[in-house]
Amino acid sequence: MSDVPQLESTYHMQMFRRMPVTLVRGQGTRVWDDTGKEYLDFVAGIAVDTLGHADPGLADVIAEQARTLVHVSNIFYSEPQVHLAQLLVEHSALDQVFFVNSGAEANEGAIKLARKWGIANRQGAYEIIATNNGFHGRTLATVAATGTPRYREPFGPQLPGFTFVDYGDIEAMKAATTPQTCAILIEPVQGEGGVNMPPEGYLQAVRKWCDEQGLLLILDEVQTGCGRTGTLWAYEQAGIEPDIMTLAKGLGGGVPIGAVLAKDHAAVFEPGDHGSTFGGNPLATAAALYVMRQVIEGGVAQNGQERGEQLARHFSSFEDRFDAVAGHRGAGLLRALVFHDEIAGDVVGKALQAGLILNAVRPNAVRFMPPLNVTAEEIDQAATILEGVIAEVTG
Ligand SMILES: *Cc1c(COP(=O)(O)O)cnc(C)c1O
Repeated sequence: MSDVPQLESTYHMQMFRRMPVTLVRGQGTRVWDDTGKEYLDFVAGIAVDTLGHADPGLADVIAEQARTLVHVSNIFYSEPQVHLAQLLVEHSALDQVFFVNSGAEANEGAIKLARKWGIANRQGAYEIIATNNGFHGRTLATVAATGTPRYREPFGPQLPGFTFVDYGDIEAMKAATTPQTCAILIEPVQGEGGVNMPPEGYLQAVRKWCDEQGLLLILDEVQTGCGRTGTLWAYEQAGIEPDIMTLAKGLGGGVPIGAVLAKDHAAVFEPGDHGSTFGGNPLATAAALYVMRQVIEGGVAQNGQERGEQLARHFSSFEDRFDAVAGHRGAGLLRALVFHDEIAGDVVGKALQAGLILNAVRPNAVRFMPPLNVTAEEIDQAATILEGVIAEVTG
């Protein structure tokens, strides 16, 4: 073992539960640790490494932009920024965009935008309805919007203005709506909450309720967007359109970047209302522009859709063959294999030893989110490893 874990425990705040591995290099869906051991990476930086590791095209774009112009701030216009804005708007239902650096920051921006809109257009309304088991980030406003009390309780008085209802319960959402409500904030699929799919008709019912009540629908597509769930945006699968959409994770293929998109009627920021020093800088937007061109025009989203179906077929066969497997859920390449017992941690630990990186998203559910350009062969290899692991853990 190298000295990295020791150095980490000495100098880094103890705030992460890390896997006992130091990854030093990657290529496509494969990564290598500091002992030279190879892994198939089905976590991909938490649904971030859209094009896998060390994609040569992305590496060239980053290197070229780094040699040209990394950062100038939003005091100036920037070419990659406007080109990325154009690409996202032309390929989504939204009309305008601004860039930030992470998912939490994107949701912060969306919350501010919705509050400004509600205060101006709904007689001071500023409350946002969010869902239990939702996840929107770790800043103070986004933990206030996150339906997991332990993420916010240690940190003192909470930002007011959020109410929570169960995901999938449209009647509860209706009951929670008051004259103070300005927006509804939900994920099209709850990612961190366990890859929880919306019940049939739920997203459509939420959209309809927002239309009837004059509320904004904010879709947090930080995890589900950018091709992750098989379509470019997850909302497409429900046949609805949000008023505001947030992105991050897969957008930059590993380069930190987030985005807030809005329809014209919700885009109420004026110069000076909000800002970000780094947000949308040339390096991040050039990288994201390349990634999103591959996703949209390069067939990467299509591959993700097909590989996701292939993975789901393996899961269905596991469900038939192993009593321990309760089922599976998800879309595209955001999927979870669900067990009857709380063995996800064991499965992930054994899979790591066997050279497959997975994530225990719930005590009884393992999450799969490989690069969207994962190959059919790699899906089959992962399934073979997993099969052995399930047999070992449950045998
Ligand atoms: C990961 C995630 C976030 C937070 O993104 P960060 O970049 O970690 O701040 C917000 N919303 C959803 C749905 C996420 O999956």
